[in-house]
Amino acid sequence: MQSAVLFKNVSRHYGEVRAVHAVDLEVRAGEFFAMLGPSGSGKTTSLRLIAGFEQPTSGHIEIFGETAEGVPPYRRNVNTVFQDYALFPHMSVRDNVAYGLMIAGMGRKARYAKAEEALELVRLPGYGDRAPAALSGGQRQRVALARALVNEPKVLLLDEPLGALDLKLREQMQEELKSLQKSLGITFIFVTHDQGEALSMADRVAVFDHGKIQQVGTPQDIYQRPDTPFVADFVGSSNVLPADMVLELTGHHAAASLRPEAIRIGAEEKHAATVAGASYIGAVTRVSLNFRQMQLSALVPAGVAVPETGETVSIGWDREALHLMERGS
Ligand code: ADP
Ligand code: MG
Repeated sequence: MQSAVLFKNVSRHYGEVRAVHAVDLEVRAGEFFAMLGPSGSGKTTSLRLIAGFEQPTSGHIEIFGETAEGVPPYRRNVNTVFQDYALFPHMSVRDNVAYGLMIAGMGRKARYAKAEEALELVRLPGYGDRAPAALSGGQRQRVALARALVNEPKVLLLDEPLGALDLKLREQMQEELKSLQKSLGITFIFVTHDQGEALSMADRVAVFDHGKIQQVGTPQDIYQRPDTPFVADFVGSSNVLPADMVLELTGHHAAASLRPEAIRIGAEEKHAATVAGASYIGAVTRVSLNFRQMQLSALVPAGVAVPETGETVSIGWDREALHLMERGS
């Protein structure tokens, strides 16, 4: 498959700060790719390198097989939807959406027709006359999307685009963005610090930490087979068992992840633990367990009895639920 974006050993340093460091990355044409990581891990800098707003300190970037060095942002076939939308407040929605086409020299009538098409795509037909200030947050977000899509980019970069929306609207937009991406066939690179969002939307996810990529894989890879303790912990708050404990349990000396939902509590189980606390979180109850030298988090589904705090219980898990991580142990 053709690659949409290729990073070869790319770094972007600011003095001592290694915002992006020695990153190799391939985003495939037509995929929905998520960059996931905590604040400050280098996600925005990576997007800005792709867009051409930043230049690498070292390394090489290609976009659809062409070297990006020396190519200015407006000639890269890439558009960005910014977290704060960055709409022009004094312009109508129509002029905001048509802005890129105006800069490219397209006549008024043609660009207004294109703008209306883009507004239909984001389900805001007929909103062209309004001022951005007269729209809700969710509608402004759609206008920002239309303004990027109208240029028919080959790659659309989205920097935490749903961060400012409330939960319900965010979930709705997640589904819309995903179906829009599938129907348009454009490569989407979507930045988020929300693991649930990345796992539910993306074909593949890159997990960033301190300017480096820890793992790239499908949501299932990342969630079920994390390569490092950082990925296990960040993506779905797994329990990370230290190598010495795993040696006692399995005979292998490597750290291991154990998902909270994989831990069973019941008389027939084999390991002793004491209950340190429990909190009800809706469909499940999260139970903290003191097990040997560590605290484990377990999820008990609704309808199953929750043990009392202080109680000694037996716990267990399927052997394959303990996922060994050779890296970072
Ligand atoms: P993220 O988007 O994952 O939150 P960023 O890419 O914005 O992370 O930032 C990565 C690191 O680089 C942070 O430590 C940030 O402070 C630093 N950084 C980003 N841009 C600049 C800049 N223009 N000058 C100095 N440091 C920067
Ligand atoms: Mg950022």
